[in-house]
Amino acid sequence: MGHIIDRNLYQARSGQKIALYGVPWRSKHQEFQDVAAFAARGPLCRDQTSPVKKWESSGENINFECRKCKQEFDCDVGRISLSDDEMRPVFEKDIVCPRCGKLSMDDVLLTELGQSQMTQATWSL
Ligand SMILES: [Zn+2]
Repeated sequence: MGHIIDRNLYQARSGQKIALYGVPWRSKHQEFQDVAAFAARGPLCRDQTSPVKKWESSGENINFECRKCKQEFDCDVGRISLSDDEMRPVFEKDIVCPRCGKLSMDDVLLTELGQSQMTQATWSL
């Protein structure tokens, strides 16, 4: 037997809060006046204290070392995401060495600076 949750499940009187997220005595609790606002809030299992991912709106400059010419360079790799199967970064744009041109991940090393830039860009993924 299926159980269907329909919108008439909620019968709140005007001004009554139908959903409460968190507890009132904590500063981060949020109250919702209607189902739409509550649903728009997203899954409750997510960490609500996480800041908005800044990498979603802007590209990242990552510092690499080219394995071919041994030069360090900054490269705008666009948005960074992580592949599902491996914990390997996926870049929106190509890595391009100023001397050697387009490189694959295997052609470059992350410098210490690059590693911290990557960590900053991906820590909230
Ligand atoms: Zn190079």
